Amino acid sequence: MATAPRLIDLHTHTTASDGSDTPAEVVRKAADLGLIAVAITDHDTVAGLDEGEEESKRHSIEFIRGCELSANCDYGSVHILGLWLPKEHAIYAEKFTALQTCRNTRNRKIIEKLQSLGINISYEEVIAVSGGEAIGRPHIANVLIQHGEVATSREAFDRYLARGKAAYVAREGLSPQDAVKLLASIGATVSIAHPMLISCTDAELNDIVADMRAVGLHAIEAYHSSHSESDVRHCVDLARRHGLVLSGGSDYHGTHKPYIALGRGRGGLRVAWHVLEALKEQRRALGLPLD
Ligand code: AMP
Ligand code: ZN
Ligand code: FE
Ligand code: FE
Repeated sequence: MATAPRLIDLHTHTTASDGSDTPAEVVRKAADLGLIAVAITDHDTVAGLDEGEEESKRHSIEFIRGCELSANCDYGSVHILGLWLPKEHAIYAEKFTALQTCRNTRNRKIIEKLQSLGINISYEEVIAVSGGEAIGRPHIANVLIQHGEVATSREAFDRYLARGKAAYVAREGLSPQDAVKLLASIGATVSIAHPMLISCTDAELNDIVADMRAVGLHAIEAYHSSHSESDVRHCVDLARRHGLVLSGGSDYHGTHKPYIALGRGRGGLRVAWHVLEALKEQRRALGLPLD
């Protein structure tokens, strides 16, 4: 009898940032799908991790404490995943709080731009739909939907919120190197998220990865809902060239991105247990803890 494939998902969002499921719901759904491990990786916050970890104890699923930091480079934003974050660290109060302040300043500027375009939405409404602590553009998109300004989140990004569009505002924040250093300094496994979404050439991506590798990058997210088979191959090549291991996850956001399923992405995603094993093996070799 064939055994079921043992699959994992190391990239998910919850109500602690811009996902629609609570941390407990994400863990429960991952367990119901039969995934053997799940990481919660909310944007610039660790607020959902205790709840997710607590829920994982009621199911046979391994929980990995994670986050996804946004950094700015010449080509726009670069997202950086931290996995196996420590439960407590002074950096959460010092640095992560500052990242939330950058978010809120930017969000307010986006609202002002929308208002100057004649769209009458308030930041209070955005806070009301967010429910979490890391508020972002998907929440603003939801308020635009509520107001009937757009039909879908995608339309909100295409018309107003994406880079270069009418209400886009760049965020003050970390450089990719600073984000890598920050996560590496607290003992996390650091992986560059969905690298093929960065708007740059292959040669430029190679340089970005080399610069991040020089300050402590461990891994590259080869498996992601947005990556084609050739994207995956490209990432595997990059990993080989720079001595990195692979990570993978769906980037599940619940109903905020209804076309992305937990564990399965757009349908073809499949992140196997050996991806987790290789990440763990690397941590063991580096003397980093696994709990
Ligand atoms: P923020 O944290 O405010 O920069 O928003 C980032 C979130 O917006 C992430 O969940 C992205 O996946 C999502 N996002 C960014 N660009 C787009 C886009 N063009 N279309 C849809 N979602 C996007
Ligand atoms: Zn998100
Ligand atoms: Fe991302
Ligand atoms: Fe993400």
